[in-house]
Amino acid sequence: MNCSRCNTQNEKEAKFCHNCGIDLKLNPSQKPKQSDIILLFYICFEFLLFLIQKVVQMLNESWYNSSARYVMYTLWIFSSLSMILIPLSIKNKVFKYVGLVMVLIMSLYWSYNNILELFKPLHEY
Ligand SMILES: [Zn+2]
Repeated sequence: MNCSRCNTQNEKEAKFCHNCGIDLKLNPSQKPKQSDIILLFYICFEFLLFLIQKVVQMLNESWYNSSARYVMYTLWIFSSLSMILIPLSIKNKVFKYVGLVMVLIMSLYWSYNNILELFKPLHEY
């Protein structure tokens, strides 16, 4: 059978690839790809931020005019920056760097806006 990693031809009964040593019994389709892991990590991260935001909003309904806003804007900054994980999962190098530049511009801009909001003084409505 052919090795799933280096494509070396191995004997049928071989347990490990004689070239790179990978376990041939491991079905490559059962092993999650690196891009899948990064994307799942991104989704978990966004979900965690979403949960924290919901808790903050439930505990403090006028969050935008209390110190809870600092938590919210900080979460949004992390949320924007975490978008960088998406182009990281692109295999093609040119696409990866083009995607990285676009995401960086967007996420830094959104983070910058939220940082500005952090420094605005609290005021009564
Ligand atoms: Zn191999």
